[in-house]
Amino acid sequence: HKERIMTKEEIVSAHGEYNLQSWSKQKGLSPIAVRNGDGLYFWDMDGKRYSDMSSQLVNLNLGHGNRAIIDAIKEQAEKYCYISPGYASESRSQLAKDLVSFLPDTFGKIFFTNGGADANENAVKIARMYTGRHKIFSRYRSYHGSTFGAGNLTGEPRRYPLEPGIPGFVKFFDPYLYRDGLDETDQEKASKQYLARLREQIIYEGPDSVAAIVIETVTGSNGVIIPPSGYLPGLRALCDEFGILLICDEVMAGFGRTGAMFAFENWGIKPDLVTFAKGVTCGYVQLGGVAVSSKIAAHFDDAVLSCGLTYSGHPLACAAGVACVRYYGEHGILENAKERGKTLSSLLQNIQTAHPGVGDVRSIGLFAAVELVKDKKTREPLVPYGKDPEGIMKAILRRLAAKGFMTYSHENMIIVAPPLIITDDQLVEELAKLDEALTEAGL
Ligand code: PLP
Repeated sequence: HKERIMTKEEIVSAHGEYNLQSWSKQKGLSPIAVRNGDGLYFWDMDGKRYSDMSSQLVNLNLGHGNRAIIDAIKEQAEKYCYISPGYASESRSQLAKDLVSFLPDTFGKIFFTNGGADANENAVKIARMYTGRHKIFSRYRSYHGSTFGAGNLTGEPRRYPLEPGIPGFVKFFDPYLYRDGLDETDQEKASKQYLARLREQIIYEGPDSVAAIVIETVTGSNGVIIPPSGYLPGLRALCDEFGILLICDEVMAGFGRTGAMFAFENWGIKPDLVTFAKGVTCGYVQLGGVAVSSKIAAHFDDAVLSCGLTYSGHPLACAAGVACVRYYGEHGILENAKERGKTLSSLLQNIQTAHPGVGDVRSIGLFAAVELVKDKKTREPLVPYGKDPEGIMKAILRRLAAKGFMTYSHENMIIVAPPLIITDDQLVEELAKLDEALTEAGL
């Protein structure tokens, strides 16, 4: 048996030679080889420390190296690693029960998937089977996954390779008051305007053909676009008026990110279906799922649920999920997200005041975006839509990385979404790096 320990150089070079890396031109990549992680931090193989200010892909909500989750995975692995979805498995049963208990009282059952994209794919299938209708509305500024069906829900440029796409997927615009130049002090008025436009669009599409409206409750990677007050209740009413199902994609916004277990709780609405992934296991093992109302669940008592995945409710993933959701409750994680969120919000506001290149800062809980502009008055984005030929945003991220502040950007926005275990002192230390990097970039 040959020793298989790779050096840092071998790991990086094999990465480039044999892996196809997501969303990247493959030439010239220089990924960091990671040695270990603990809480907010991870270290490269030279011992340099990085702060995980995006919780990786906004999924590592409890940070690195959480002992309770690791032990739960080990314990399950000792019993059995896999049993097919047709068997009753303790971790699967327990997690479904726990999740239903966190959801509104109208919810009944869970269909587990491998991640967020297939959660959305299956939510669309369930909505179509349940309503007998075929059209699906989703928003332009959205990301719902990159597989074929979820990619058709996605509205931003990551859907382009799938075009011309699946017929019946209709797009509408998000309520983005800053970019639309609307009066942000009268949110109810803005909500009414957006909803009136959407209502007209539904009527023109033929309401009887619309199965569901899919939204990211808080639009995530497209810039943490927070719905104005009145918008979600109005959307719920619009769905009820036309018998359309409301699907909240909580893949990124769920599991404490906004300070509530699910983001829709912030506006007191009850969707018909909820898709989730990321924070349910914090990525320790991949898992996603679709939660459905009791009414929809009952429909499938006698109708066949034509959905299936070999790894639906994988026992290891569900064991991680049980440990994870219990940790949220037992360690006051939602409260921490809410409280630390106030610190983050005030630090971001200081940054906005201090920097002429920071047009807007938006945050809810520990979910934030910093919107960079050429001019505060005109609000012209720092880079044009879908283009950054000079790599301006990448250069800012490189400055941040050099200071050990790791995150990602989208269009003209920098995402700030640290693990929900972060402290006030850590936030102050990290946000000072963002402040410095923006100054160095002349913003
Ligand atoms: N939905 C939202 C809101 C997301 O942010 C993502 C991923 O970033 C997805 C769906 C897709 O999830 P996955 O990458 O697990 O397929």
